[in-house]
Amino acid sequence: MANAKELFSNPREFVSAIVEIRNKIGYKLLYAPAIANPLNMAILSYCGIDLFDSLDIILKSRKGVYFTSEKEYKLDELEGYPCNCEYCKKGIDDFEDLLFHNYEVMRNELIKIRNAIKRRELREYVEAKTHFNPNFASIIRILDMKYYDYQEKNYAVIGNKIIASPYSLYRPDIRRFRERILNRYEKPRNAKVLVLLPCSAKKPYSTSKSHKLFNRAIANSINRYTIHEVIVTSPLGLVPRELECTYAAAHYDISVIGYWDKEEIEMIRNTLSDYLERNKYDLIINHLPKELSNHLDIDAINTCKEHPTSDASLEALAEAVKEADDMEKVKHTERRFENARSILLYQFGKNIDNFLKNCKVKGKFPDYKIYDENDKQLASFSMKRGLFSLTYPGGKKLGRNYWVEIEDFTPKGSVFAVGIEDADERIRIGDEVVIFHNDEVRAVGVAKMNAYEMKESKAGEAIKVRHYKS
Ligand SMILES: [Zn+2]
Repeated sequence: MANAKELFSNPREFVSAIVEIRNKIGYKLLYAPAIANPLNMAILSYCGIDLFDSLDIILKSRKGVYFTSEKEYKLDELEGYPCNCEYCKKGIDDFEDLLFHNYEVMRNELIKIRNAIKRRELREYVEAKTHFNPNFASIIRILDMKYYDYQEKNYAVIGNKIIASPYSLYRPDIRRFRERILNRYEKPRNAKVLVLLPCSAKKPYSTSKSHKLFNRAIANSINRYTIHEVIVTSPLGLVPRELECTYAAAHYDISVIGYWDKEEIEMIRNTLSDYLERNKYDLIINHLPKELSNHLDIDAINTCKEHPTSDASLEALAEAVKEADDMEKVKHTERRFENARSILLYQFGKNIDNFLKNCKVKGKFPDYKIYDENDKQLASFSMKRGLFSLTYPGGKKLGRNYWVEIEDFTPKGSVFAVGIEDADERIRIGDEVVIFHNDEVRAVGVAKMNAYEMKESKAGEAIKVRHYKS
């Protein structure tokens, strides 16, 4: 990227140039010369720059600029050095001392970035850096708003904690969650009553005090398994109860003070209305607080009085769910099967009814296990990943869905990118995949790259194999 330095001062042009180059070179290394310093290395890494140099640091050191990881200072304006490196301890006397201090800061920053990447927290780290430079904020915004497809494929379907910020609403993995709920997911078909619930700070929601109270109230119905709980929240929109362990539902922290901004309300209104267009219920019970409820246009029994967990509200909820008592009875096992189907639809998107044909689902949520008609286990739900893990027979039954085509070998530990011929373009890091050679399933495992990188790269671990053909 020859003109990186010039482009970087204009976020719009910089982002569009990066995307254009990336689309051209794929997953090859990208070098941006004479631009990196401790302040911008995180955002540059986030944009996909792989290689930096120290030219900018040398030039700035010549001009007497002292770097910290947040800010640049004029050396002669500093009162003491906010750093413990050997040059700062000794006192900075000349250009070389300053340069070596700046190198130290740059090296530390590089280590922070590497750790953030490893922990899947680079986005949070970059968001934190936007406080120090408005251009960084612009770059994130432009990427999110204009280049969702480009970014989304690089976001894993698993992850650590997300600290929700004003940027989170359009974060690619958050937006993907919302879109999958609307495009892939179907509610449990035997659930006829929808209960809308507020979120809780503690995750998964059902472990929180408030949700235990809701659960007790809902258990007041003798036809509990026809009731479907859906949690309404920002920035994720809607989280059906059976997806509460799935990324990012169990992974985000947001300040819960009952204040909703315009953008969040708009998002929830639209998501709910699209959801109800696609998923039909006989009855809706709305247990959301007024601050949110007032903005939603739904035909429902409102059970939230002053506060969702107040005695009056819980009594109203317990009373309202009795409406389900006279509806067609749904057994626990029937509902469990449907819950598993809904999760699988979210995860794999299609062909799930074929996979589930003649199957039984056993175990208590979230420890679901799926067995075929011969009691052979096909899949088990991993609470940690929030997804189903396949067994080898499970992979065979799932068939050409989240598939990877490899050369003629039987993988045991890992599949490296060099052995991959083709892959389902929906595969993201963390996805469960079925490994084929021609029409034979060779193994199942977890993707360590997205489909594009699997196909393009010549090196690196692409899949961690879980079970293989024996
Ligand atoms: Zn120092």
